Amino acid sequence: MTDWKSAAQAIQPELVQWRRWFHQHPGVGFAVEEAAEYIAAKLRSWDIETETGVGRTGVVGIVRGARPGPVIAVRADIDALPLQEENEHDFVSRYPGKMHACGHDGHAAIALGVAKLLAQRRRELKGTAVIIFQPAEEGQGGAAAMIADGVLRRHNVQAIVGGHVGLLAPELALGQVGICYGPMMAATCEFEAEVIGRGGHGAQPHQTVDPVVISAEVITAWQRLVSRELSPLLPGVLTVGKIEGGRTHNIIPEKVSMRGTIRYFHPEAEKVLVRRAEEVLAGICQAWNARHTFRLGTAYPPLVNDGDFTAFFAGVAAKLVGAENVKVLEYPTMGGEDMAFFLREVPGTFYFLGAGNPEKGIVHPHHHPRFDFDEDVLWLGVALLTATVWEYTQKN
Ligand SMILES: [Zn+2]
Ligand SMILES: [Zn+2]
Repeated sequence: MTDWKSAAQAIQPELVQWRRWFHQHPGVGFAVEEAAEYIAAKLRSWDIETETGVGRTGVVGIVRGARPGPVIAVRADIDALPLQEENEHDFVSRYPGKMHACGHDGHAAIALGVAKLLAQRRRELKGTAVIIFQPAEEGQGGAAAMIADGVLRRHNVQAIVGGHVGLLAPELALGQVGICYGPMMAATCEFEAEVIGRGGHGAQPHQTVDPVVISAEVITAWQRLVSRELSPLLPGVLTVGKIEGGRTHNIIPEKVSMRGTIRYFHPEAEKVLVRRAEEVLAGICQAWNARHTFRLGTAYPPLVNDGDFTAFFAGVAAKLVGAENVKVLEYPTMGGEDMAFFLREVPGTFYFLGAGNPEKGIVHPHHHPRFDFDEDVLWLGVALLTATVWEYTQKN
């Protein structure tokens, strides 16, 4: 096996520099043009064929080996979050209200590292590596946009691999690799609902239709979908994360609006949670003379890893970090990931790379204003993905 460990360690200072640049210049959703330009310039400087504007603002680097062979993709998401950073290190976000609080700045740097190392060895490379830098992972489905734009079809991608750095799986210590055979992350579905009543004086409720009381009943009833209608053997979550209505203590408002997320793995759970949510809302509103609206937003499918590819990846990872540091996760997570769209199209795997470090105070969860990850794992992310591409193209 080529010594990808040393090769990746040799570019660690650059990886840190790139990661910090991404961290200082966060873009939210599809608005990642600045990062996309930075990535494209780097790829071109290494003579890598580069596509821009894929799925609106995605970038693709195509490293063609000198010898024919299979095509494998490496996927990194590059978007940040609409969040005000509270970290105090010297590379904090330069843009108020925007922050890389999920580690995608690390993913972008790692994927650049993979592209650089593979390009250096392209004369020996058999086959092609397609390095995908996608926008809008955090809730808008940038992966689906890039697939619709032909990123997999155009390059005949046969397998895909990607990962997530950070603290997503508590059982993973710094530098440990977490894998999962089959379902790993939940399907997610956003929704918005309104209960529309009739406002009036807080002292004369009988002359109103009170959407606050009705909403309370709806939210409680929704929780019963999970406990009474969903099989206890199927995981499911229905969370109302935002509720808004009213102005002051003695006015019954016209309406209450809510936003939430539904999470599940199994199609049966989708039927119970997604379809029945509106039926329950409609039924309760009708019973109390209110009207309702219900709208489903972005939905991600469950993320399902291919068994054979995951076993292959686990073998590659074990050679790099030792078998004892490659852990099969005990449980999948109810978090969502739009890598799921790619894995629905081609076999592959998604893995977690442990990057929390209590000794350095790196303990805050993802999406927290003080989130950080230990940069010492950047080279390891590069080594894992580069070795995976290399071995896959050699053996197939
Ligand atoms: Zn996130
Ligand atoms: Zn993320």
